[in-house]
Amino acid sequence: MKSVKTSQPVDDGPSAQPAGEPAGEGSDASGPTAGAAKRTKARAAGTARPPTPAGAVRAESHTALVRRARRINRALAEVYPYAHPELDFENSYQLLLATVLSAQTTDLRVNQTTPRLFAAYPTPEDLAAANPEEVEELIRPTGFFRAKTKSIIGIATALRDEFGGEVPGTLEELVKLPGVGRKTAFVVLGNAFGVPGITVDTHFGRLVRRWKWTDETDPDKVEAAVGALFPKREWTMLSHHVIFHGRRICHSRKPACGACPIAPLCPAYGEGEMDPEKAKKLLKYEKGGMPGQRLKPPAGYLEAGGIPASPLGSA
Ligand code: SF4
Repeated sequence: MKSVKTSQPVDDGPSAQPAGEPAGEGSDASGPTAGAAKRTKARAAGTARPPTPAGAVRAESHTALVRRARRINRALAEVYPYAHPELDFENSYQLLLATVLSAQTTDLRVNQTTPRLFAAYPTPEDLAAANPEEVEELIRPTGFFRAKTKSIIGIATALRDEFGGEVPGTLEELVKLPGVGRKTAFVVLGNAFGVPGITVDTHFGRLVRRWKWTDETDPDKVEAAVGALFPKREWTMLSHHVIFHGRRICHSRKPACGACPIAPLCPAYGEGEMDPEKAKKLLKYEKGGMPGQRLKPPAGYLEAGGIPASPLGSA
């Protein structure tokens, strides 16, 4: 696994400075960020005192929470420099459909399914005029295919009739489309329009609660609470970092704490397997971050050594 380099100064920008946070935070090589890196290194060498186990967290001020949250995000950015949406898409229309289809299934399954769908219905006009039974057959592998067919044909119809065949680029307009909630809207805004957004999926909610960034369980409240800890411009990549970590290391049932690069910053360290060797064996999704779920991954991912997911039907 890629080691975490946490001594890199990060400019959070003047507007991002939390109240009471000293200027230049993170730039002092002897400061707490460098200390976290040392602890990570020492733990790998088996000479470190383990991080505080879960349940032994002292009260943390808001300022300290902001600083810790940003350190976690910077550390994850080092571990997953290629973090990206794991749905294959070439335009906003494809991303919108793929995101709707991704409910209750894996991104890989969606990526294995959408090429035929996009080839058959390349525009909203084509899909709006589709025979629902034919669409159902195409998207059947993603599960809940009848409801999803209704949703995507409804979306295509709305795009054709109300938006001139284009995907709208605002939250207000996107959430008016049938079956599109804030989560789907933020995925599209963040990754097809460059508008910062926080995507609260199951991984994101689980991890931010483990990290004590918030206790909220309602996705809208989680989004607001976490958004307040970070500059807006970081929201989209923050979402990717957290979701990547949730899929790869901080699993729902058995987090691989002993193989986790942010253990020194995590109040939930100890909820999962702490033995480094046993923890490594839990990293079944991929080793060290690769491969992802995209059959056509972005260039940055490939340049970082990533490989595409296996084609449909292969092992
Ligand atoms: S894997 Fe363990 S140490 Fe790492 S973030 Fe999850 S709970 Fe914390």
